Amino acid sequence: MKISVLSETRGADRRVAIVPSTVATLVRQGLEICVQSRAGAGAFFSDEDYSGAGASIGTDAAETARGADIVVKIAPPDSTELDVLSSGQALVCLLAPAANGELLEKLADIGVSSFALDTVPRITRSQAMDVLSSQSTVAGYRAVLLAAGALGVMTPMLMTAAGTIRPAGALVIGAGVAGLQAIATAKRLGCVVTAIDVRPAAREQVESLGAKFIPMEVDHSAEDSGGYAADLGAEFYRSEQEIIAPFLKKSDMVITTAMIPGRAAPVLITEQMVDDMKPGSVIVDLAAPTGGNCTLSRPGESTEHHCVTIYAPLNLPGDIPVDASSMFSSNAASFIGELLDDENNLNIDLENEIIKGTLKTHEGKLL
Ligand code: NAD
Repeated sequence: MKISVLSETRGADRRVAIVPSTVATLVRQGLEICVQSRAGAGAFFSDEDYSGAGASIGTDAAETARGADIVVKIAPPDSTELDVLSSGQALVCLLAPAANGELLEKLADIGVSSFALDTVPRITRSQAMDVLSSQSTVAGYRAVLLAAGALGVMTPMLMTAAGTIRPAGALVIGAGVAGLQAIATAKRLGCVVTAIDVRPAAREQVESLGAKFIPMEVDHSAEDSGGYAADLGAEFYRSEQEIIAPFLKKSDMVITTAMIPGRAAPVLITEQMVDDMKPGSVIVDLAAPTGGNCTLSRPGESTEHHCVTIYAPLNLPGDIPVDASSMFSSNAASFIGELLDDENNLNIDLENEIIKGTLKTHEGKLL
């Protein structure tokens, strides 16, 4: 059983799908690992680190993927990477299947069995494979540091001979995995933190981190059966904007993470609301990959409007490549375990809930 790890080629992603410590574990399990040369360079893992852990090194993507049973990476493959895949191979990576129909058709045409790590069902047994949670954790942490670094004020309360510095106010919109990590990080920096979420269950989690929860009139329809927020419609979001507006005015940093699976992110911050914010304040819009929660967000860019900086990053985990990679690597290794039988043969069991939830192309067909 040969597992190959390709470099990340999209944008400036510094992560790598499998780190050397995971290679060592997989090799101990009797698996053969081949890593593309310099795949770990952005995360400070050298080719020597990988060969020391028992991997062979492939000079390029084609040599690395040749003869592999399973190819692992983080981002969906681009056209050059599609060229190195061959029929019968399994591909394990993020695929964003709802947005990548054409890519999936190409993978089916090649005859690849492709597994979307971003659709691992969120059941207890698959928690160790949940890349959305691990990468959102990193994003939530990094978003607060990004905001803190751009603020015109310090974050903690300081009582000094030169006067008293008031703590910065942080507002977190959306208290899922990224939002809760943003709350925890902002608290550690000494901010006074307030948060809002449409899922009533979020209240207890927000308060347990020492933040204030903004109450909203919502019923059980705000949450779908999978525990995600439902689309509540334009009228609801207009009234939510009114609830958020006074808190926005008081905040120095605003981290927005409100997303609805398979839909555009709800607009919760309008231009008028940004006009009313304090000069020098910062918004980090983590919903940028699905359009953003702020009308002024430009996905992948930072903008300034009336002295308010608005970041709309598309890959914050890539800014913390060591930990983001090792968490992804641990998730991917757990997932690979699900694909193998006791003799390390590929075993695509279509009755297995985790396989069913992630397998997007198989035996030349789209699933
Ligand atoms: P997500 O990225 O889809 O959304 C982020 C947050 O935005 C969610 O908390 C959502 O409720 C919130 N949101 C959406 N619309 C909003 C609005 N209009 N106003 C305010 N907030 C809004 O979600 P996520 O971080 O992936 O997590 C979603 C849920 O999945 C949570 O309940 C989480 O606990 C759960 N979860 C379960 C598992 C598991 O069981 N293995 C793992 C991770 C997360």
